[in-house]
Amino acid sequence: MTALNVPPHGGPDLPQERRLVTEIPGPRSREMFARKQAAVPPGVGTTLPVFVTKAGGGVVVDADGNSLIDFGSGIAVTNVGNAAPRVVERVRKQVADFTHTCFMVTPYESYVRVCETLNRITPGDHDKRTFLVNSGAEAVENAVKVARHATGRPAVVVFDHGYHGRTLLTMTLTAKNMPYKHRFGPFAPEVYRAPLAYPFRWPTGRERCAEEAAAQTIDMIDKQVGAENVAAVVIEPIAGEGGFIEPAPGFLPKIAEFCRANGIVFVADEVQTGFARTGHLFACEHEGIVPDIITTAKGIAGGLPLAAVTGRAELLDAVHPGGLGGTYGGNPLACEAALAVFETIEREDLVGRARRIGSIMLPRLRALAERAPAVGDVRGRGAMIAIELVRPGTTEPDPALTAQVAKRCHAEGLLVLTAGTYGNVLRFLPPLVIPDHLLEEGLTILEKAVIEA
Ligand SMILES: *Cc1c(COP(=O)(O)O)cnc(C)c1O
Repeated sequence: MTALNVPPHGGPDLPQERRLVTEIPGPRSREMFARKQAAVPPGVGTTLPVFVTKAGGGVVVDADGNSLIDFGSGIAVTNVGNAAPRVVERVRKQVADFTHTCFMVTPYESYVRVCETLNRITPGDHDKRTFLVNSGAEAVENAVKVARHATGRPAVVVFDHGYHGRTLLTMTLTAKNMPYKHRFGPFAPEVYRAPLAYPFRWPTGRERCAEEAAAQTIDMIDKQVGAENVAAVVIEPIAGEGGFIEPAPGFLPKIAEFCRANGIVFVADEVQTGFARTGHLFACEHEGIVPDIITTAKGIAGGLPLAAVTGRAELLDAVHPGGLGGTYGGNPLACEAALAVFETIEREDLVGRARRIGSIMLPRLRALAERAPAVGDVRGRGAMIAIELVRPGTTEPDPALTAQVAKRCHAEGLLVLTAGTYGNVLRFLPPLVIPDHLLEEGLTILEKAVIEA
């Protein structure tokens, strides 16, 4: 890809500015939202009811002509930016050549190239295999299938605050009842939950968090399940929906070590943390963790639906022919998009860019925490950053304040997302190509919203 003219922010040629021409949402969006409410069940929620017509770089443009600053990236998906030029070019060519054959019927090269690339760039230099599916949940579900098949064991261990998807198995793996599990049971059997090393909320303090949480996890596995019955431990290296919780340093290595010693497949769910988001290609790299299986999705293909299961060759090769797959898995448009994403991350140094975003955001948020006692914790790595809002001087969650701050940001044209088991976390996931001036402007809006609320 030589003559590609990449705009500095890496998106379509949209003015990189915040621009409010109506209230948020404006009349056109409100009209479409009324139609949405009549046609789509309320179970499919809406964070911010503006209807999008264009997006790129650090902005989302709505049907009323408002241009909003994007601190969400469609939930950590458009790391390379929306309608990123290389993605557009590759997908445009592919859509004209062929749109589907089913890789299991007649294969095509792009699928294999995506797998070769993931085998190379994921942590660890052992022999790996990859196969492709459509969503993060499907990837996690397949990782469990592979682990069970390869080990011949039934049990799966997951953690407090974990999020792994919405299918029967993955909602069972997910920790939070409302809204993900409520009245959707009965759940899948043989799923066991362990404590997560959550530094801000560990009863005996941050210093003892990693060691005690690991000891409790190992004790739970040994006493309640039996290590020899456990197929897989599934964990996000940074809990995403659970509130951007970085496990206390030392916790992940201890769990990985225990898995290795007991023949348990260590599955890192990097669906949200992957592809440069945290200032490494994968969040496991922060502590040098080499997972047996890694699941990826969200940031992999610039918004086209794609997900992957990558793991040790001997595990993935254990499954009989025909045991893995799906009609659409590794769709050719999505594979081309993924190849464009890999190239963009490398050529535009988006790993470095994620670190820079963190180095701009974290100091300003820490300064905000000094001024606003409701900001109980500031945390995150790279461009995966969060603040946790509490009643001043305590760790008591304040979800009402959190919702209020998010609402104020939305009204000012800053798209932010909330998260957390207690609904009291504001999370920031800007596209890695967001220009600095929009990042700074977004932070100013956020600071004002927190102070005023
Ligand atoms: C979003 C997410 C999933 C589920 O991905 P879908 O594509 O929505 O099915 C699984 N695990 C983690 C860590 C996620 O953030």
